[in-house]
Amino acid sequence: MGDTEKKIIKTIRIDVDKCNGCRACEMICSAFHAEPKYSSNNPARSRIRIIREPLRDLYVPVYAGEYAVAECAGRDKYTIDGKEYDECAFCRASCPSRDEFKEPDSGLPLKCDMCEGEEEPLCVKWCMHDALILETREEAAGDEEASEEAEDLEIGLEALADKFGLARIQDAIERISKKD
Ligand code: SF4
Ligand code: SF4
Repeated sequence: MGDTEKKIIKTIRIDVDKCNGCRACEMICSAFHAEPKYSSNNPARSRIRIIREPLRDLYVPVYAGEYAVAECAGRDKYTIDGKEYDECAFCRASCPSRDEFKEPDSGLPLKCDMCEGEEEPLCVKWCMHDALILETREEAAGDEEASEEAEDLEIGLEALADKFGLARIQDAIERISKKD
């Protein structure tokens, strides 16, 4: 068997219980992404934000994820220790319905890029409380894509089978394969 190409997957594990809301992660992230680098420090530019509830001693780091073109129709509502949080409070998306994870001057969406070019994400390095832990693993390149394609194929086939019946689909596949 030939060598399978590998890719490195990086994950940041968040231990909410260890976060004390110091916001060092927000500071370093915004400084790293300033133009020029480290020329300014504005947590509104950070790709990580800390939801802070000092009276309840609750601090939840949330990373900026994908840009959403439109608001989603289904919303999440969290209740933690009896307190209900606003809809979308923990959402990672930069979305038209709110100001979070948007570049303050231009409104452009912000997304965590794992501090591209750095050996270790800077928020992880600067978190003195081990609330953010970097984990890496190797995966065969293409695994994810192949399994997504297989899933799409199955969904498509199931829809066809529902519409025309499995026997007709099998007949059609047989006819097509004979043509080749
Ligand atoms: S640096 Fe660590 S402890 Fe401080 S706010 Fe960020 S995640 Fe929490
Ligand atoms: S990994 Fe880098 S880009 Fe992502 S939130 Fe942390 S400091 Fe910001």
